[in-house]
Order: sequence, then C-alpha cells, then structure tokens
Amino acid sequence: MSLRLVLLGPPGAGKGTLAGILEKELGLAHVSTGEIFRDEIRRKTSLGKTVNRFVTSGRLVPDELVVSVMAGQLARRRKGRGLALDGFPRTVGQAKGLEAFLSDRGLALDGAIYLDCPTPLLIARLSGRRVCSRCGSNYHIRTMRPRRSGVCDACGGTLIVRKDDQVNTITKRLVIDRAQATPLLDFYRQHHRLYRVSGSGGAVRVFQRVQRLMQQRGWLKK
Ligand code: AMP
Repeated sequence: MSLRLVLLGPPGAGKGTLAGILEKELGLAHVSTGEIFRDEIRRKTSLGKTVNRFVTSGRLVPDELVVSVMAGQLARRRKGRGLALDGFPRTVGQAKGLEAFLSDRGLALDGAIYLDCPTPLLIARLSGRRVCSRCGSNYHIRTMRPRRSGVCDACGGTLIVRKDDQVNTITKRLVIDRAQATPLLDFYRQHHRLYRVSGSGGAVRVFQRVQRLMQQRGWLKK
C-alpha cells in the first residue's frame, strides 16, 4: 500500500503502537523519530551525542536537525512504499520541512491522523511503559506484559523505564506537546485532511477505528 500518513497526538496516545500495526497489516513503513534518536544514542554516534540531552529531558530536538535527519531517512526508502510517520512532524516548522521534501519529489501526504486521548490515560500509559534496552520493543506493566517479567520477548534484553518516562519528565513532555499541538493541527487542517480518531482503549480497537476511516476514505477495500 502506498499511502503516506502522518500520525499525530501527544506522547502516550499510541502512535508507535498504531504505526507498528499499520506496518504489519498494511505494509506501511513505520518511521519513528524518537526510535531513530534512541537508536543513535544507544550506538553512541555523534548524532546520538547531540540529541541525547534533548531526548532524555523530554525537550524537542531543534527543527533543522530533525528535518535533515528525516530527509536522509526518507530519501533512502523505496519511493512507492507507503509511510506511517510517528512522532514527526511535531512543529509547524517540521511540517513545512516535510512538505518541501515531498513536493520536491512530486509526492504528497494523503492525510494526518490525530489520536485523541484524555490526559489521565496518557499518564497511565507512559508511566507504566517499559522498553527493551537492547532492541527498543515496547511493553506495559499492565496491558502489554512480557512473557517473563523484565525480559524482552523479542530479543531477551532487559526491560527498563525510558528516562523521559519518569513522572516529572512526562508532565514536561505533555506541556511542551500541548504548546505545539494547536498550530500543528491548524496547519494540517489547512493543508491536508485532518482526521481525529479516538486513541482510547486497546491497540486492536484503535486500529479498527483507523481501518474504518481508511475504508470510508476509499484507501482500503471493505
Ligand atoms: P517519542 O519517542 O516520539 O516520544 O520521542 C522521544 C523524544 O525524542 C522526544 O521527547 C524528543 O526529545 C525527541 N523527538 C522525537 N521526535 C521529535 C521531533 N519530531 N521533533 C523534536 N524532537 C523529537
């Protein structure tokens, strides 16, 4: 499927989980800026060293750097394959950078999906999240438990709490996100179709809502 989608929503809304399902079920490439940065940090590359202080403290990496990293990532991908962008863009500056990158290549986004979630649910999801220190797979202490406590099902790595999932950093990330969200949603409302989907409930339910939207839009056969 060659759909190009941007997934929007606050931290904890389930963008990464949804993008993973879209990749598995529909073949859209899941591209996550947060995961790219965390991988660079794990590998101690020079980009990893530059972004480390932003990522661990929950602040946004500067637009210019994010756009150039994403342009490099997207340029390497097969042109015809669909995309689910997770965590990018986060600001209007980045959204404009993405537009410029795509239009230079004669491409465009098909839509932006905003996952709507009440704040207490976001906090519960983020504070219960555990990630694999080796491969980055996500778990949750209540809703997505690994088979063996503290151990990644996929690679056997140790599960840890992300530095930016500490309670005081979660609050900071949500405040930063709120400040960017209104202008970003306005941008997508003006430039593309913006679709709001409830991000409450389990991953399967959220995917079913998105599937229904895709069928209504004619992106997916019924
Ligand atoms: P995420 O995994 O999407 O929650 O991102 C984790 C962290 O990576 C964020 O708190 C930021 O520090 C950084 N980050 C990820 N995506 C972006 C982006 N589009 N713009 C700026 N910083 C980002």
